[in-house]
Amino acid sequence: MTRPIAAIINTKNIQHNLNVIRNLVFPSKIWSVLKANAYGHGINNIWKSLILTDGFAVLNLSEAIFLRKKYHNKPILLLEGFFNINDLYLIYKYNLTITIHSNWQLDILINYQPKYPINIYIKINTGMNRLGFKINNIHNIIYIIKKKINIKNIAFLAHFADCSKHSHYLFQELNIIKKTIDHYTYTRSFANSAAILWHEFMHYDWVRCGILLYGASPTSKWEDIKNLSIKPVMTLQSKIIGIQKLMPGETVGYNHQYCTNKKRRIGIIACGYGDGYPKNISNNTSILIHGTITKILGTVTMDMIAVDLFNIPTAKIGTKVELWGDNIKIDNIAQSANTISYELMCAISSRVPRIIK
Ligand SMILES: *Cc1c(COP(=O)(O)O)cnc(C)c1O
Repeated sequence: MTRPIAAIINTKNIQHNLNVIRNLVFPSKIWSVLKANAYGHGINNIWKSLILTDGFAVLNLSEAIFLRKKYHNKPILLLEGFFNINDLYLIYKYNLTITIHSNWQLDILINYQPKYPINIYIKINTGMNRLGFKINNIHNIIYIIKKKINIKNIAFLAHFADCSKHSHYLFQELNIIKKTIDHYTYTRSFANSAAILWHEFMHYDWVRCGILLYGASPTSKWEDIKNLSIKPVMTLQSKIIGIQKLMPGETVGYNHQYCTNKKRRIGIIACGYGDGYPKNISNNTSILIHGTITKILGTVTMDMIAVDLFNIPTAKIGTKVELWGDNIKIDNIAQSANTISYELMCAISSRVPRIIK
């Protein structure tokens, strides 16, 4: 028997979510963000389901080339452009759109002198101060690009530190940018999932949608999106592979950390931090077994989790469990683990098979 853990990828749900997003942002176009191997879902599992997206945004050249071979005509955006001069050959060969965020990239591109025109997104530093050109430098950058690079289209990309509903700085940051670029008619892409949801005026020409496509909230609070009909795409499931009956005073796992005060039936689940389940999780975390929610006992180890079966007499060896999915929202698990759903999705390790449903 193979180890029973799997990440089930519900491709109908990703199609459904894209459709929900389409209705939210219409007539803006949608970059479906598939970086980090489609947030852990596997690009190879979901590319087919996104036939109605307008384009794809990724980080790695390999991801971009994979998608180009599937979709000959859809735009494909490299969110951080190229990392060295050798990337440019492939960027031109596969007709990829690049983001330019730094002077060093501009220098390389100018020296490269390609024969074909290229689409460029200029990344504006919104105050996040990771990548991007400062706003007071934008006129100059555009001047250089137009003068020295063989371009097809120029566009603006901006990524904001906080697009939550009650963001304090967003309007200020946005207004400074708008003042500088309002007289350019170039395409704009300013909105991530949070801005799609809560700042309609930021949708502009193209939104960039990641987490919402996968069925989780940008705030990692499911309540924030539960009225939208967005559906979780990934179900992390496994099975009970061991059952123990404990007497009062007996303990579970390393360092005797959990000690039962009564007779208890516990289940051992084939899932651990080696699979990407978070180790630092509160032991009040929910797991679904036979329609009943039960709790983790003790600590998550590399390969196993122990759960209480006190209320689930029907649970036996081989019973299926949901770690997260339609019923246990990944956002709630993220909250229990003091992290965000993005991290949990990306952390699912390679030993967990992804199965398309
Ligand atoms: C990852 C990423 C996104 C997607 O963000 P979500 O919050 O997942 O929608 C958008 N824009 C850029 C530049 C990104 O790197």
